[in-house]
Amino acid sequence: MVVKDRKSQLPTSVNLGSPRAKRLAYLTLTLKSICSLLAGLFISLQIGHYALELGKRFDLVAADTVASWTVDVNTAGVCPQVSALYPQNSDNAETWTEFGELLETQKFKELAIEKLSGLIQIPSESYDNMPPPGEDPRWETMGQVHDYLAVAFPLIHSTFSLTKINTYGLIYELTGSDSSLKPYLLAAHQDVVPVNPETLDSWKYPPYSGFYDAETGIIWGRGASDDKASLAGIMLTLETLLEKGWSPKRTAVLAFGFDEEASGIHGAKSLGKALEETYGQDGIAFIVDEGGGFKDVYGTIFATPGVAEKGHADIKVEVTSPGGHSSIPPTHTTIGYLASIIVAFEKNPFPVELVRNTVPHDTLLCYASHGDAIPHSLKHAIFQSTYRDAALREVEDLFVSKDHWYSSLVGTTQAVDMVFGGVKANALPESAYAIVNHRINTVSSVNETATHDTQTITSLARSFNLTLKAFGEEIISDSAYFPSGSKGHIELSQAFDHELEPAPRTPTFDKGSKPWEFLSGTIKATYNAHRNLRVIEGEESNNIIVSPGMSTGNTDTKYYWNLTRHIFRYNHKNGAYGGDIATGVHTVNENIPLDHYLEMIRFFSTLILNADEAASF
Ligand SMILES: [Zn+2]
Repeated sequence: MVVKDRKSQLPTSVNLGSPRAKRLAYLTLTLKSICSLLAGLFISLQIGHYALELGKRFDLVAADTVASWTVDVNTAGVCPQVSALYPQNSDNAETWTEFGELLETQKFKELAIEKLSGLIQIPSESYDNMPPPGEDPRWETMGQVHDYLAVAFPLIHSTFSLTKINTYGLIYELTGSDSSLKPYLLAAHQDVVPVNPETLDSWKYPPYSGFYDAETGIIWGRGASDDKASLAGIMLTLETLLEKGWSPKRTAVLAFGFDEEASGIHGAKSLGKALEETYGQDGIAFIVDEGGGFKDVYGTIFATPGVAEKGHADIKVEVTSPGGHSSIPPTHTTIGYLASIIVAFEKNPFPVELVRNTVPHDTLLCYASHGDAIPHSLKHAIFQSTYRDAALREVEDLFVSKDHWYSSLVGTTQAVDMVFGGVKANALPESAYAIVNHRINTVSSVNETATHDTQTITSLARSFNLTLKAFGEEIISDSAYFPSGSKGHIELSQAFDHELEPAPRTPTFDKGSKPWEFLSGTIKATYNAHRNLRVIEGEESNNIIVSPGMSTGNTDTKYYWNLTRHIFRYNHKNGAYGGDIATGVHTVNENIPLDHYLEMIRFFSTLILNADEAASF
């Protein structure tokens, strides 16, 4: 690990993360580039000087910032960083230091393994489209989770209040001493993705063994990473703090859903309503839930807390046409029509367009500003893309289109995931349908997605003489085929009534960015402490860069939007070793290295103690 020693050139009073500031910053930079081309020519220096002076005169850029750019085209101001944030007040600082020392002990490590392993041993699987609790015995494993938590974390259960929502949803609360501070919410989910019995042979250790391999230092089993390390980590952190005599200044709330892996319809949805009834709209200071972690990108460690989420829609495309005996078939059966429609969808993917002031663009700006080994051409294009459209397209070519994960993040995606039709080999199917799953990009909407789908198949419907109804609206009626009549009908609709608009973005600059800065500082303190990289007081600590980020999926927080604007999908997971495949999330051999899990616990302890001290939100 190379420890970088950089000092931010950003005056703390100037926040250049805002769109306006970015534009101005690059306008200035461009002028400077032009000037350097003509370096040596007196006139160009005059122009450059004049441009910068002009900027200063009209208050477009801070004088200090201009001064730093003239020395070094370091663009630290584009993805501004805060200092590491350590608990300050003497009690908290002492508790935090002691906690950190405890984390290093064999005894604590064994305790941490035991708590997580025990939780993994409960097969709390959630399945799609389950009936509510009480109507399906498969939910009962969540009851085992509750019993386990009560025994494993006795102090929490004797100090926090506990409310169960819709039988298995858990809300814990420990009221803080200062009622003027808004409570914060830590979220995790109790359920796991079911283990496909056919894959059992591929698991190194049985999925519900919770086996700890002391040689490799890895804890194995379904849920080890998603999301039981968070659940056990939050609980163990609080239990340990209580043991140390800590009592919160700021109210701490925990919310644990039980069907996150099945869209949260019974768990987080009910929890969200209950939380809003208790704390009110905007009644929570910030939420931390599962999500982004940190990893090496272009030679620099980046943490990318999720500050936005894509939307979601499952569209049902149903074709109906007359049935009959298959010995006298028409040219196309309903299944044939449906097949053509599916082909049309796949031939017309949604455009993948990078848009300014969206999270995917802001993440790239952070890579360009702080990534030590980012290729120069890409860095240049990213910087230029803040004001030049052609450069945006260049970044799409150079990076987005080459990275399948990133292009999925940027654009609205579509995947035909289910198909039904036909009942008998000698009977023409009267109906057939497919479900198209969409993840909607953050600048689009459910409506726009539906319109795109409708347009994709309208001319095809016409060419087949089929009528078309889309989302309740008649697009092609039978009269279009007068007098012969249509050959069948296509209907587009929302499949499961759970469509979701893209999430509101968590503020990360300008007004309202205090919780973001608080989280950033906490991440830095955690990262440094876990590696003994405590920085000298007052210096910027850029061993880890914190960038706005997002994931391609959703979390339980989609039901918590009303509680706060400050939602962070981040649990400080070390992504250093190969992403989802290596950690086995949603597949075989799920695992988490003990050290990664311990660092998550360090993160939660730092977050909780810092939250008691943060008075500005
Ligand atoms: Zn999860």
